[in-house]
Amino acid sequence: MIADTLGRPLRNLRLSVTDRCNLRCQYCMPEEEYVWLPREDILSFEEIARLVDVFADLGVDKVRLTGGEPLLRKDLHRLVALLAANPRIHDLAMTTNGVLLAEHAPSLRAAGLHRVTVSLDTLRPERFKALTRRDTHARVLEGIEAVRRSGWPGLKIDTVVMRGVNGDELVELIEYGRKVGGEVRFIEYMDVGGATAWSMDQVVSRAEMLSELERRYGRIEPIVERSSAPADRFRLPDGASFGIISSTTSPFCRTCDRSRLTADGVWYLCLYATRGTDLREALRRGAGREELEGLIASPWRGRADRGAEERLGMAERRPLIQIGELKRDPHLEMHTRGG
Ligand code: SAM
Repeated sequence: MIADTLGRPLRNLRLSVTDRCNLRCQYCMPEEEYVWLPREDILSFEEIARLVDVFADLGVDKVRLTGGEPLLRKDLHRLVALLAANPRIHDLAMTTNGVLLAEHAPSLRAAGLHRVTVSLDTLRPERFKALTRRDTHARVLEGIEAVRRSGWPGLKIDTVVMRGVNGDELVELIEYGRKVGGEVRFIEYMDVGGATAWSMDQVVSRAEMLSELERRYGRIEPIVERSSAPADRFRLPDGASFGIISSTTSPFCRTCDRSRLTADGVWYLCLYATRGTDLREALRRGAGREELEGLIASPWRGRADRGAEERLGMAERRPLIQIGELKRDPHLEMHTRGG
């Protein structure tokens, strides 16, 4: 196991399998058209599995498939099967917008995917349409229902909370989570690359969410646990639990063991990092295992990133990256590096 300059282990790898998405969420992909990664640069499943194997040698035991929308990657179950066969990967998860989930859930589960997180920001079809600019809300709910029906454990529902958009749906979403057997996690709106319309006044803070929920449910207790998971978990008086990911107002950089590999093999040590390591180049020129290990171990040992904490310390906060710069370098986009 290797650790960075703050003692954080290399454990958690988020794998973006495509930069394409079938939604256009205001807070992530507000444009209709994007500069996409060149097709020939996209790593094959075998290349991804080879890199994951090197990462696993260095301590990674948690892998999350993401994107873009991971279910747009053809035959994703094949990659799942390759990764599930790696005995050192103890937790193999996927984050999806759920639109294509109903049709793919059985093959992904059979291939060995341990659990699924579905992003769902609203229970109201009209709001969904306004937020994502697509009319596929019913399909997302069908996807969640398919997971529930099959009894697939570990379902989570992730909701980005935005003032004036869905800030009034916290209670409804918790009740929905209860109904479908999924733990809801509320995410503070973040000023990541891609969120070009971000402003602090749209952020609903963790403190605000808790007081709103306490008004409805009564006293909420924090669940005390040792974990590097991004969500702080809480329990309602009736025993139901939920989480809050407060990256904007109360970042958790000090325990962050996450890094991100883009679909074209660039590795980032922080969601806010502007530079990454090109592992595809090394892989494709035939670099041996030792060289690949060095390319990963050495930047991780030198890692000092605390992106979200640094953002918090800024006097005046504006979107991280302006649209012109995002067009020049799509690697700066959240949808490229995987949320
Ligand atoms: N397409 C998949 C999905 O929708 O879950 C995976 C990729 S998406 C980039 C991963 C997560 O990042 C989603 O839960 C999304 O809501 C979240 N996300 C994107 N932009 C965000 C922002 N500005 N603030 C907070 N979360 C954001």
